[in-house]
Amino acid sequence: MQELSHYIDGAHVSGTSGRFADVMNPATGEVQAKVPLASTEDVAMAVEIAAKAQPAWAATNPQRRARVLMKFVDLLNRDMDKLAEALSREHGKTLPDAAGDVQRGLEVVEYCIGAPHLLKGEYTDSAGPGIDMYSMRQPLGVTAGITPFNFPAMIPMWMFAPAIACGNAFILKPSERDPSVPLMLAELMAEAGLPKGILQVVNGDKEAVDALLHHDVVQSIGFVGSTPIAEYIYATGCANGKRVQCFGGAKNHMIVMPDADMDQAADALVGAGYGAAGERCMAISVAVPVGDDTADRLIEKLVPRIEKLKVGPYTAGNDVDYGPVVTAAAKANIERLVETGVDQGAELVVDGRDFKLQGYEDGYFVGPHLFDKVTKDMDIYKTEIFGPVLSTVRAQTYEEAIGLAMDHEYGNGTAIFTRDGDTARDFANRINIGMVGINVPIPVPLAYHTFGGWKKSVFGDLNQHGPDAFKFYTRTKTVTARWPSGIKEGGEFSIPVME
Ligand code: NAD
Repeated sequence: MQELSHYIDGAHVSGTSGRFADVMNPATGEVQAKVPLASTEDVAMAVEIAAKAQPAWAATNPQRRARVLMKFVDLLNRDMDKLAEALSREHGKTLPDAAGDVQRGLEVVEYCIGAPHLLKGEYTDSAGPGIDMYSMRQPLGVTAGITPFNFPAMIPMWMFAPAIACGNAFILKPSERDPSVPLMLAELMAEAGLPKGILQVVNGDKEAVDALLHHDVVQSIGFVGSTPIAEYIYATGCANGKRVQCFGGAKNHMIVMPDADMDQAADALVGAGYGAAGERCMAISVAVPVGDDTADRLIEKLVPRIEKLKVGPYTAGNDVDYGPVVTAAAKANIERLVETGVDQGAELVVDGRDFKLQGYEDGYFVGPHLFDKVTKDMDIYKTEIFGPVLSTVRAQTYEEAIGLAMDHEYGNGTAIFTRDGDTARDFANRINIGMVGINVPIPVPLAYHTFGGWKKSVFGDLNQHGPDAFKFYTRTKTVTARWPSGIKEGGEFSIPVME
């Protein structure tokens, strides 16, 4: 049995807690590794090492820091297949999807190579008589991030690349369900020339998270995961005086107008609803066709596409559309919610409940489900299912459709499919949701824009990556300078004497 480790001070260490979690192979249901769960003392050791290493890194000029990231990008490309394989093995997603997970992180690293430009401050010449004013962006010190299982490469990179580019030390507490790729990323950063102690990985559960939240030296906490934990981390981190940004769960609606191209809308819904087994915070989980005729046409297009979906292990290569969900508990929760949908009166148009995969009976595979005639009061509408289950809520008008998305407690992403520019424009302007797609089902912004939802999908002020990340990972210091006299008065040639 493989025993994983922490990555502290440039070395793999087992930690002191004696506690471990099982790392499963979701395709087979077998335990494939054990990961140590850090104690408060393990976290304290990592923080101490980070605090010692950080000042020299902050004093390294930003161009040299960026060069480490440049090299890291080369290494990510070199090891892309290896990273994708390790990621699929623990997460279960298909190999192309796993490579996409690494790629979307890599793109943020590329953005962060622009640190010398992004960290340039502001300068006002002659703000007053003989007075100049300038502001600098300085690193926070020791920063930390807690990441979810569903993007074990991308989200750690979204955090540590800007943190490190800005001159901070960063401690990553990845998901205990798929910790191998985060450890590999830390090794690659070391190979790229990052000094010891600047990026450390502390594996663990609530104990490690609480140790970070309560450690005085840790200046900031980034979190991505479910909303209840996001709320807890935001409240605790803020109460302890830290800078905190937390990104939570989602229930993303896609509105389909009567004038939409129904084939395009159905293709988009199948990819966005079932890709990665629905385990994406930007997955579309609610389709909102406007008008019964639109709904009937959409369902007619969706059903054959969904019935054709190929579910299987990543090892089957390109022959698979999506893989297993992450744990037996996740599978059981999805199955429970599907039953509530049936009991509460939704129409199960595609029923994936009897899905079985020969040879993988113990894996966490879930067949695709499509519900029609879902209503606002049902649990499958209110809850984030995080599985291959798409709900259709029929709206009679555009106003009803936009109102549904606006009234939902989550506000991560949304999309509208229409051929009418005016409707699309109105939707983009009025919707109270952070990321909007117009005929684009998963509108994840690219690295140089920022990523973040609204409402219960976020706690904090600044978004992830893009210019916001450089604000989050730095403090502004503003200097007002006056030099009342100077060498230009002329040299003094006689020995100074007291008057
Ligand atoms: P999770 O909340 O269970 O875990 C996230 C992290 O928090 C993990 O590192 C975990 O170890 C830690 N954690 C879990 N319980 C904790 C506790 N009681 N105290 C302290 N720390 C704890 O989330 P997950 O299941 O790993 O990820 C799926 C969730 O993440 C979904 O809700 C999804 O929508 C959300 N997500 C959001 C975004 C976004 O950007 N908004 C992106 C990806 C995933």
